[in-house]
Amino acid sequence: MARTKAKVNPYQPYEDALRQKQRQLLDSYQRDKAAGNAQPDDGIQDLADKAASAYSKELNFSLSDGERNLLMQIEEAFNRMRDGSYATCTNCGNVIGEKRLQAVPWTPFCIDCQELQEKGLLS
Ligand SMILES: [Zn+2]
Repeated sequence: MARTKAKVNPYQPYEDALRQKQRQLLDSYQRDKAAGNAQPDDGIQDLADKAASAYSKELNFSLSDGERNLLMQIEEAFNRMRDGSYATCTNCGNVIGEKRLQAVPWTPFCIDCQELQEKGLLS
C-alpha cells in the first residue's frame, strides 16, 4: 500500500478535540462580547464609542481565570503538536497516557506530575 506524502498527524483526534474545546471557549466569549455590544461595528458611534470600548475592555476579561488558562494550555498543546513534543510530559519527559489525553488533551503533564502540580510541588 503506497503511502501519500501528506503529513499524518497521529494526534489528529486530540487536535480535533482541542479545536472543539477552543471554539467552545471562544464562542461563549464572543457571545458575551456581542451581548455587551449591541451596536454593529459599522454603525456611527461617536459618543457611544468611548463608553462601548471601555465596556468591551472590561469584557476582554469576561473569561474566567480558569477559562483563560485553558485557552492558553490549548494553544500550548497546539505548539507542542507542531514541534513534536505533544503527549510528552513537559516536566519529566514521560509519555502521557492515551486515556489521559482523551480526557484532557491540553494537559502538559503526565498524571504523576499533575498530582505534584496540584499539590503545589512543581515550580
Ligand atoms: Zn511527568
